[in-house]
Amino acid sequence: MQVDATPSLLRLPDGPIAKKQPNEPFYAIWNLLESVADPEIPVVNLREMGILRVVRQTATGLEVVITPTYSGCPAMSQMEDDVVNALSQAGVAARVLTQIAPAWSTDWMTAEGREKLRAYGIAPPHPSGCGTAAANVIQFASKKVAADATMTVLCPQCGSENTTETSHFGSTACKALYRCLSCLEPFDYFKPY
Ligand SMILES: [Zn+2]
Repeated sequence: MQVDATPSLLRLPDGPIAKKQPNEPFYAIWNLLESVADPEIPVVNLREMGILRVVRQTATGLEVVITPTYSGCPAMSQMEDDVVNALSQAGVAARVLTQIAPAWSTDWMTAEGREKLRAYGIAPPHPSGCGTAAANVIQFASKKVAADATMTVLCPQCGSENTTETSHFGSTACKALYRCLSCLEPFDYFKPY
């Protein structure tokens, strides 16, 4: 196994972490971690959310690095416990480290994670397109565009772009509450940052 004796100097990759392939280091560990869901959005796992960042072997043992979606996220200790439990059930001892720099970004969510959010009824961060034939094609806009308050949020139920924000804070601080003016369904919008 690869040993990194200076883990504090390790730069985390910024961007989505792809599902690991059998020939990649720590594949068995990554594979086990695929079962660890986001405590607040159980259809999406921590890798798909971009929370799970690195699995590495250090001089003092196996480490799993996670980055919270925002500092002070109340689900953080739950995630640490879930990671440790998933691994220990398979006989793997690991420490979980929380690393906050670079800061988590919605850009780190994988395409599969975004699609699972939409299917779950949560509009993923910054859908692009015009709600036409491309309703299922979900992409992040750049952060510059993300600052544009006129950005259309597509309804995850019917794909309509005729939606309005009813509350800037939804079921959690990460989300805003929206309402679709076409199908009249309320829904959460995962705010980009
Ligand atoms: Zn709708």
